[in-house]
Amino acid sequence: MKVLKFGGTSVGSVANMKNVKSIINDGEKKIVVLSAMSGTTNILVGIANDIKERNIDKALIDVKTLQEKYLDVINELLSNTDLNSLAAHYINERFDFLTAAIKTPFSKLLENKILAQGELLSTFMFNCYLQQEGINSKLLAALDFMAIDDAKEPNKVYIKKQLSKLLNTSKAADIYITQGFICLDNNGEVSNLQRGGSDYTATIIGAAIKAEEVQIWTDIDGMHNNDPRFVEGTKAISNLSFDEAAELAYFGAKILHPQTVLPVAVDGIPVRLKNTMDPEASGTSITNNHIENGIKAIAAKDNITAIKIKSGRMLQAHGFLKKVFEIFETYETSIDMITTSEVAVSLTIDNDLNLEKIVSELEAFATIEVDKNQTIVCLVGHSIVDHKETPLLFKILKDVKIRMISYGGSRNNISLLIDTKDKIDTLKKLNTYLFEPVTV
Ligand code: ASP
Ligand code: MG
Repeated sequence: MKVLKFGGTSVGSVANMKNVKSIINDGEKKIVVLSAMSGTTNILVGIANDIKERNIDKALIDVKTLQEKYLDVINELLSNTDLNSLAAHYINERFDFLTAAIKTPFSKLLENKILAQGELLSTFMFNCYLQQEGINSKLLAALDFMAIDDAKEPNKVYIKKQLSKLLNTSKAADIYITQGFICLDNNGEVSNLQRGGSDYTATIIGAAIKAEEVQIWTDIDGMHNNDPRFVEGTKAISNLSFDEAAELAYFGAKILHPQTVLPVAVDGIPVRLKNTMDPEASGTSITNNHIENGIKAIAAKDNITAIKIKSGRMLQAHGFLKKVFEIFETYETSIDMITTSEVAVSLTIDNDLNLEKIVSELEAFATIEVDKNQTIVCLVGHSIVDHKETPLLFKILKDVKIRMISYGGSRNNISLLIDTKDKIDTLKKLNTYLFEPVTV
């Protein structure tokens, strides 16, 4: 069985939902994971924030406007009166919950319950639509099988057990529809897999049922070799290995949630990125095979903070890095890039929530410099460090101001740290030299 995930844009309008129906209605049995309609989760985040800040009137208006939008959608989507009233009833129930939530004191759990509504709505409506079209579909409630443990990792044993129970006991369907993103936490409360987490839902399910393939359907024709928002003429990459895809997803290729490939990489279950707006395009295929070597793609991750830790005590001393890392560990802050010299260490973090506390502890034994607004530019490709094109990089980068460079941490990645203001220029330069057919 295959698992197909459709993102927010793919279910973001009635026309696109109809498109999704024709893609999935091919006679093959499958599980379909849906995101919320595009824009909905952002609005729900806003509503939760307004509740937190007691902007009650604004929250009430936003809930009302969103409710009207959903009722308009079903009026266009569902001409069958019974299914239309079933969906309207469900929508009104969800919005009654949201209206009541506005009058409730804010908590993280309340926020999670609010954020869960988008996927609950999209899947219910879409399932009604499939029924209207005579398709043998069935809703599987993600909250009946998807769960994370106390380390916020998917609880694989539980998921596998629950999902196979649900699939075996429920009336057989051709197409099972379920919600991406939402799950239960280790206390059995509503939680989620972080923003963009529907991709992750799909591969977690794929691993649990040992799927033949997981397909992630979005609104672009696969993972591109550079960021199409900043660089013209980028191209879809046809093949990536799991390692390459993981690096790219983490370092900014917005198309995929960073953890997506992890659950399926172990079993080598292929992941295919496809475009709902152009279903015939082959997209990007992610497998265990390394098809070719060399620099395949460039991605950039913003909002990076660099910390330089300089200390004479580091000279020929052991245990210095341990001391540094323990401070980051205490504040649950993970380090992305690291470079060292004999008297200094530079490292980067992407979460500066506890920056002040970290810096003040480091200052007890070192001089600290902090640079905000940095960007990691990540070059990815199998055996990139050995490839004949790679030395070219140094020639190219003579024009770019690099703050840090990480080479050889893995064979598949070279990372550069630059000032965010130089990002677009750097991405364009790299693109010209690496991917455009002009020799330097
Ligand atoms: N709806 C969620 C979000 O917008 C999850 C997803 O779309 O993957 O983050
Ligand atoms: Mg997404």
